[in-house]
Amino acid sequence: MFKIPERCPFCLNAGTIEVLENDTWEFMNKDRRPFEVSGYTCFHCKACGEKSVNAEMDKLNHPKVLDARRISESLLSSMEIKHILEKVKEKFGFSEAQLEDILGIGAKSFTRWKNGTVCQSQTADALLRALDKHPSVIETIAKARKLSLVPTKKGRPAANKSQKPSTTKSAKIATKRKPALKARTKAQPRMQG
Ligand SMILES: [Zn+2]
Repeated sequence: MFKIPERCPFCLNAGTIEVLENDTWEFMNKDRRPFEVSGYTCFHCKACGEKSVNAEMDKLNHPKVLDARRISESLLSSMEIKHILEKVKEKFGFSEAQLEDILGIGAKSFTRWKNGTVCQSQTADALLRALDKHPSVIETIAKARKLSLVPTKKGRPAANKSQKPSTTKSAKIATKRKPALKARTKAQPRMQG
């Protein structure tokens, strides 16, 4: 599965490299406290004992490192984030893109947090915990930011009368007829592709 290097990059011996698929590595979190990651994949030299990873292994290990780091920093795990998102999406019918808009977090943040590519900030973590306990917080935020509460998925009535779906539709048709007009209306919810 992994292309094993012919020679160890440390002791330069040939034929001494093996792959370990369930190793335990130690890392530092942002508070400079060590945390352990199990199930780590790496190369190991049987001659000198040095360990290393290639880019492919790094990609494989990264989500595990991130989740272990989250635990050590008392942040929500990727599974917990998934669970909270499902709950909020189910209750309000929002798409993830809409939720990202309302919460003012960058596009694709949820995907990155769930995949374990990026760790959520402490602020975002606190927000997610608040959403978990009190999902209606999302309505408070949307109203305060004057954003539409019209779900892109399924039927929940519009909270903001100026942002009816029909408005969005007619705006789109108008754009089609006159391409020179501004393509997006203000505060229009982003559609998920
Ligand atoms: Zn070696």
